[in-house]
Amino acid sequence: MKCPHCNYSIGFFSKTMNSFEKNRVCPSCKQPIKSYLDFKTAMIWFIPIVIFNFIANTIGLSAGITGAITVGILMLVAIKLKIPQEDNKNEETNNLP
Ligand SMILES: [Zn+2]
Repeated sequence: MKCPHCNYSIGFFSKTMNSFEKNRVCPSCKQPIKSYLDFKTAMIWFIPIVIFNFIANTIGLSAGITGAITVGILMLVAIKLKIPQEDNKNEETNNLP
C-alpha cells in the first residue's frame, strides 16, 4: 500500500496498518492516512479468486485453507490508503447552509 501523500510503501503487516488507532499516520511523512476497502478492485479480483477456489477444490485443498487465502488476497489487493481529510471536506460541504 502506498501513502497518498508521499508514495511511501507501507507494508500490510507493518505496525501502522495493524494498529487499531483511529488516526493512523504515515511512518515516513507523518501525514494522516486512512485505509478503506476498494470495491472496484475487489470486484476485478473476484473472478480469478472464484477460479482459484475451483482449482483448489479440484486438487483437494480444504475449504478452510482456500477461504483464508481468498480473504488474504482480497485484503492485500483491495485495501488501499487515502487521505482522511477528503471525507471531512465532503462533510463540510454538506453542512453549508
Ligand atoms: Zn507518507
